[in-house]
Amino acid sequence: MVDTLDRLDQLVDKSLRREAPTREEALALLRPDDFDVFDVVAAAFRVRRHFFGRRVKLNTLINLKSGLCPEDCSYCSQRLGSGSDILKYSWISPAEAAATAGQAVRAGAKRVCLVASGRGPGERDIRRVGETIGAIKGEHPEVEVCVCLGLLTEGQAERLREAGAHAYNHNLNTSAERYADICSTHTFADRVDTVRRAAAGGLSPCSGAIVGMGESDDDIVDMAFALRELDPDSVPVNFLIPMEGTPLAGTWELTPERCLRVLALFRFCFPDVEVRLSGGREIHLRSLQPLALHLANSVFLGDYLTSEGQPGADDRQMIADAGFTVEGAAERTLPQARHDLVAVRRRGAGTELPPNT
Ligand code: SF4
Repeated sequence: MVDTLDRLDQLVDKSLRREAPTREEALALLRPDDFDVFDVVAAAFRVRRHFFGRRVKLNTLINLKSGLCPEDCSYCSQRLGSGSDILKYSWISPAEAAATAGQAVRAGAKRVCLVASGRGPGERDIRRVGETIGAIKGEHPEVEVCVCLGLLTEGQAERLREAGAHAYNHNLNTSAERYADICSTHTFADRVDTVRRAAAGGLSPCSGAIVGMGESDDDIVDMAFALRELDPDSVPVNFLIPMEGTPLAGTWELTPERCLRVLALFRFCFPDVEVRLSGGREIHLRSLQPLALHLANSVFLGDYLTSEGQPGADDRQMIADAGFTVEGAAERTLPQARHDLVAVRRRGAGTELPPNT
């Protein structure tokens, strides 16, 4: 029988070759009976360190338009009929967004994520967001701008790209199987379609997950594998913030250990992709947050869309205390060879292995 540490070593070796775990390997990472959580963290950290060193990329969220969404995503405090006591406002001006972005950039943020509630943007919204991108890039040309406006229609990704957007975020959130349990106004297929449109339109695809919504281990693995098929450049992993006034209020099912196992699973599934520690990290990982930096190479700085996050100074202190460094604007995030499709031949003539014929 293979020792548990040998099994993790094998998983690390696969990951360093950018191979995905098998379904059984992925499930085992989530099961306390299979592996001790700290062995899992140590193994996944080897993958993280190989591709990203000890760098941590900082990102910030700006909610351009808050609340009053016609969609009914059950985890969201901005949803249709939400009873959450959140800020509600229509589009903030490009100048206000640029001022907020500037503050985050000066605090170390390398990416600014512009988010607006709603099913998807109309033409005026695309124009307005284009002006906002222009205002931000005018002051900080080096900053990466990611846009998150919901479902995209034909040609909108291209227009955002032309306006200076670098990336588009649209999370899959949960597995295809249970998507209808968390939302009735759009489908998993709609979400997949938008991620594909964003990539086809020249935007760097960002798509991730929310865990802690009653999903099983199989759901988490299904979601991770579905995301891998979309070949995202960035994968945010959120832990449900069970806001009062939403259908998932009172859903507190995550433990720090569970969060670490999920992050490790995503690291093994996305070895050379930006895995981002996202919403809910403070309340679910609590004192184990620094360990999550051994798995994720990217983190949100500051507040979330409708709830407050840890103070930025505490984040920067945590990063330094844990022996990590904030990634600079001039440093690459993704490994150089990520999209290199050339594989050096290691089979056939001159080797012990049969040819690929
Ligand atoms: S997640 Fe987005 S689409 Fe869903 S309810 Fe919230 S703001 Fe609307």
